Amino acid sequence: DVLFVFPIEKLFEHISARSSAKLFINNQFVDALSGRQFPVINPATGDKICDVQEADKEDVDKAVDAAVTAFEIGSPWRTMDASQRGKLIYKLTKLLERDSKYLASLETLNNGKPYVESLEDIEHSVDVLRYYAGWCDKIHGQTIPVDGNYFCYTRHEPIGVCGQILPWNYPVALLSWKWGPALACGCTVVLKPAEQTPLTALYVASLVKEAGFPPGVINVLPGYGPTAGGAICRHMLVDKVAFTGSTEIGKEVQIAAAQSNLKRVSLELGGKSPFIIFPDADLDNAVAYAHEAIMANHGQCCCAGSRTFVHEDIYDEFVEKSKLAAKQRIVGDPFDELTQQGPQVNQEQFQKILNYIEIGKKEGAKLEAGGCRQGDKGYFVQPTVFSAVTDNMKIAKEEIFGPVQCIIKFKDINEVINRANKTRYGLAAGVMTNDINKALTIANSIRAGSIWINTWDAVFPQSPFGGYKQSGFGREL
Ligand code: NAD
Repeated sequence: DVLFVFPIEKLFEHISARSSAKLFINNQFVDALSGRQFPVINPATGDKICDVQEADKEDVDKAVDAAVTAFEIGSPWRTMDASQRGKLIYKLTKLLERDSKYLASLETLNNGKPYVESLEDIEHSVDVLRYYAGWCDKIHGQTIPVDGNYFCYTRHEPIGVCGQILPWNYPVALLSWKWGPALACGCTVVLKPAEQTPLTALYVASLVKEAGFPPGVINVLPGYGPTAGGAICRHMLVDKVAFTGSTEIGKEVQIAAAQSNLKRVSLELGGKSPFIIFPDADLDNAVAYAHEAIMANHGQCCCAGSRTFVHEDIYDEFVEKSKLAAKQRIVGDPFDELTQQGPQVNQEQFQKILNYIEIGKKEGAKLEAGGCRQGDKGYFVQPTVFSAVTDNMKIAKEEIFGPVQCIIKFKDINEVINRANKTRYGLAAGVMTNDINKALTIANSIRAGSIWINTWDAVFPQSPFGGYKQSGFGREL
């Protein structure tokens, strides 16, 4: 069976044919006003895929103007029936499904994640957008029985122009998380994909036009963070900014919002999520879940299970089995259907992860598996396991964002709750146990947005996702 529709070398020709290596403003693909471009790299080889037009402040101004015009009272978008908005979003999902193999190929080429997983990301994006398509005509206000001869009611109104800034780890999936609710509510959008992975967002932009969205409702601006991203955050006519990325940049986004027009802000940031394994859990099952929790998407997940807390009674056996799982993980060509792990997204992340591995060794953690680069081309890192990790080590405190499992020993439930909570983050947590009391005690005591019981990464369009503490605020989905 043919896994993907286009041979890899044809992917870029197809992008060019759709003119989508440019900025998408007002339903047109246009050059950046500065004329500047930036290179986009294939992380499996380190080679350039193509150059993409680079948005800067003047382009952001132009896109925001388009989004403001599209949002004006009386515009086609503002006068459209809510059910028709739903039909348009639904149409977009059909186009995503039609082109899913192409999109998944492009995602894998640009991001490095295995093709099979890119396809799952596209399917997830379709589910998310379809879910929100159904919401459009079900957003109700209230009538309120106030005292006196008055009729009092509330309306839920669209916020307006929504700036949206994405990271590179789930380029299409996170686009769907941002577009779904904004479009369902009747907002207009100026989206900046991550500079590392702009290609799929630009292709989806071409589908926006094909679906028939009015000009200016959705605009896509590839470019860098401090320039294009910063201009969105500081813009006086952007009503909201939804940001996914690092905690450090999240703070800058909030400062820019405060110093400009007090635009609304929602932030989805980093994590150092604890996964707590009790001895009454099925051991093999727990090992498999903990392995996937950290290794999925090459460890490049905001909600990665990056602190594996294991009870002392099963610690040694757990480490032995986790080591084996890491050694068996298939790393290589992301277009090979057997591959479980492709390259890290770029040289910078690759180097950052290798540095953390060196730090772990120096701090006295025991390297059980991996620890090195794999191959001599591209940004591949061996699935790595450290045991004897203690709470104060850097690798136990900081976000590595790579395939590095840190296994930490604990003795009892109260102690592990305290230690799991000793972090500036609070995005997710998990527990493996057959004891409902322990499971619910953990769920009620860990300060994190999602707590998974006997599972991990269970994320659905119907269920909220977001952080406590410095993992951010506001909820997606
Ligand atoms: P980053 O924060 O540097 O970049 C994310 C996005 O912000 C990019 O589009 C970038 O161009 C933009 N950006 C950078 N500087 C900006 C500025 N001054 N103003 C406006 N926008 C700016 O993150 P990264 O290093 O590319 O990605 C890895 C980090 O992202 C990790 O720490 C990870 O935890 C986090 N992340 C979180 C989630 C989540 O859902 N919570 C998801 C993915 C990644």
